Amino acid sequence: MTHTAANTDTAMSYLNLLKDIAIAANEAATSRDALVASLRSVCETTRWPVGHVLLSTASCQLESAQIWHVADDAGLGQGFDVFRTETEARSFSAGEGLPGRVLANGSPAWIADADKDCNYVRRDLARNANLTSSFAFPIHIGTEVVAVLEFFAIERRPPSAELLDVMTHVGVQLGRVFERQAADNAIAAHNRRNQQILDSAGDAFIGMDANGRVTAWNRAAEDVFGWPRTAILGRSLTETIVAEQYRGAHAQGLKRFLDTEVPRVLGQHLELPAIHQDGHEFPIEITLWSLRTDNQWSFYAFARDITARKAAERDLKHRALHDTLTGLPNRALLSDRLAQQLARRDIGRLGLAVLFIDLDHFKRVNDSFGHEAGDQVLNEVADRLQRCLRPADTAGRLSGDEFLVICPEVSKPRDAVIIAQRLLAELISPIRLKDDSVFLSASIGVAFAEADSDPDSLIGAADIAMYEAKSSGRAHYELFDQRMQIQVASRLRIESELRNALDQGQLRLHFQPIVSATDASVVALEALLRWQHPQRGLLLPGEFMHIAEETGLIVPIGAWVLEEACRQARHWALEHRADLPLWVSVNLSGRQLAQADLVAMVERTLASAAIDPSRIQFGLEITETVVMRDPEAAAETLRALRQLGVHLSIDDFGTGYSSLSYLKRFPIDTVKVDLSFVTGIAEDKSDQAIVDAVTRLAHVLGLSVVAEGVETQAQAEALARIGVDYLQGYRYARPQAPEHIGNMLRASSLDPSQ
Ligand code: C2E
Ligand code: MG
Ligand code: MG
Repeated sequence: MTHTAANTDTAMSYLNLLKDIAIAANEAATSRDALVASLRSVCETTRWPVGHVLLSTASCQLESAQIWHVADDAGLGQGFDVFRTETEARSFSAGEGLPGRVLANGSPAWIADADKDCNYVRRDLARNANLTSSFAFPIHIGTEVVAVLEFFAIERRPPSAELLDVMTHVGVQLGRVFERQAADNAIAAHNRRNQQILDSAGDAFIGMDANGRVTAWNRAAEDVFGWPRTAILGRSLTETIVAEQYRGAHAQGLKRFLDTEVPRVLGQHLELPAIHQDGHEFPIEITLWSLRTDNQWSFYAFARDITARKAAERDLKHRALHDTLTGLPNRALLSDRLAQQLARRDIGRLGLAVLFIDLDHFKRVNDSFGHEAGDQVLNEVADRLQRCLRPADTAGRLSGDEFLVICPEVSKPRDAVIIAQRLLAELISPIRLKDDSVFLSASIGVAFAEADSDPDSLIGAADIAMYEAKSSGRAHYELFDQRMQIQVASRLRIESELRNALDQGQLRLHFQPIVSATDASVVALEALLRWQHPQRGLLLPGEFMHIAEETGLIVPIGAWVLEEACRQARHWALEHRADLPLWVSVNLSGRQLAQADLVAMVERTLASAAIDPSRIQFGLEITETVVMRDPEAAAETLRALRQLGVHLSIDDFGTGYSSLSYLKRFPIDTVKVDLSFVTGIAEDKSDQAIVDAVTRLAHVLGLSVVAEGVETQAQAEALARIGVDYLQGYRYARPQAPEHIGNMLRASSLDPSQ
């Protein structure tokens, strides 16, 4: 081979080398692959048996990239492995050793003989490896050296300008690879950072292209929808996460937008159902927006799983409409249901009934077993009500021990009655508590919807009927009728008028004398309440007393009666007969007897009236039935009143339990035999026997006896024969305004026959 031919060959092979490197630079997936391929090409073309790549680090040093090329037939010394290991283990600063020199100067360098080079830091290692010559060249990006390639040969090789020239070109080619890699790295880093930002977002981030394919999917989206990123990218969004019933609308919406570019849902905040990868449906909140780049639309959304929020909302709503204890619908929901059913019902065909249920004496359960037991009982009642009902019926709790049942499909009153009876029967069986059984009953009011019924009036009507059931003995049902309505209305009117009566001075006290059975002289005066009604005239207690009792108005009214009676008593004590003693008595209601401060109030009133007890005594009358409601407590109160010097009478004796034996347990002065025994006393043997027995026993116990309602002389004579002490009745005097009493006190006898 001639010198020229050899030169031409070399030139050709260098050209091929540059071509190979250009290919490697273009085709290699990474810069590392390009380096491996290029290193081999250089070694093979130039016949330098060993090649090595070093990369520059962030701290401007060179470190082995651990890319080597070692020719098979290199004939290296035994020390090569050590040379290689040591080279890989160290780094080269600028100017240090062969690579350091290339790094510092940015240009190739050549060492023909390692032994002779004073700057050859790996000299001993190289000698042991049989390496004599070496050269190295840099790879640049701009002016920066990013890598250095070094080559070694066993024999001594003089520097070749031609070779170094070619290597400069190789360096430039590979520089492009590094440049491209750096750009790719920057993009990858950018994308990674974007993904990281998206992944760190609490909301699911979803991207979709104009074909409806998923293009972006962050970690939260994986969590929310269950689809891993890799599994969903490229798939149709409609077929993966859009709920079945929205798929059509979703596809159409996308098409319409692409056609018209008029957004409908874009930019909005929506709540929709979505599908999880496992197939379950759940609610999401989603915000959508679109982006146009390079004439292409893409769509993005932030979505959030709102299952918990929806559940909380549902829970709140449920709580607002249900009773917390029993879980039954509350008043608000019952009213609402009733309104709906009233609006929907076919009045001609099917009626609607409302049952108002109130437990009888429920307070006693709370008082004797505690509130926990009370709650348990209410829950049991709720269960039983529900058990009795048909699917269309609704049971709810209004308050305390009041329940309501709405029956929308009753064709006649009889049907509702059957339901009421079933409820009563169900409630009557004992309720088991921990150690006890509670026996309950209920009072039920039933009302039927009329054409113009509204929920409130219908519930009100059932309430009125329930009240009627209560006041007529409890433990049964009553059907509402118009008469009840009228009664209730009049009750309500009387109640409101009665509230004013006291303030407006419409109340009066009349007094009826009680006379001695022997000479008809006045021994006592009973105060009887009257209401001077502005329109209806003088009203007797029978017309308003029960309302005063039920509403509690009796308490202030009773206090007024007491004061007024005391005032009158004091007046008479000062003005009249020298031979009083006389007692003036006032009727006490059950409500007053149960009042905790009754004794203190009586004491205060008596003290402020300052009546001389040696001239006039103060008295109280309590009916037999009231005393027997709670005999123990009554006995205690009566004892305290007696200590205040109050004259105590048992009123209407014989109408209640008629137990003579209990008389001795009460510290009383007088028994007033009820007028029902007096009316027939002249003829009726059994009345005579009863009054006789009462009188005898009373006398044994040291009590005096008054007969009420004496109207005729025959009655008066029969009573006198029996030995009754005192008489009261129209025969002697009707109840009178106080101004008429003075004359009677002055008269020695009220006997009309004298
Ligand atoms: P009471 O205490 O048994 O009073 C006697 C009632 O019999 C009075 O009715 C009286 O007018 C009536 N009476 C008296 N003599 C005769 C008679 O010869 N024949 C007939 N048929 N009746 C006679 P009144 O005044 O209508 O009072 C009714 C009831 O109202 C009283 O019965 C008493 O329980 C209650 N009452 C009256 N005033 C008060 C009051 O200030 N406070 C309370 N808590 N109750 C009162
Ligand atoms: Mg009385
Ligand atoms: Mg009486």
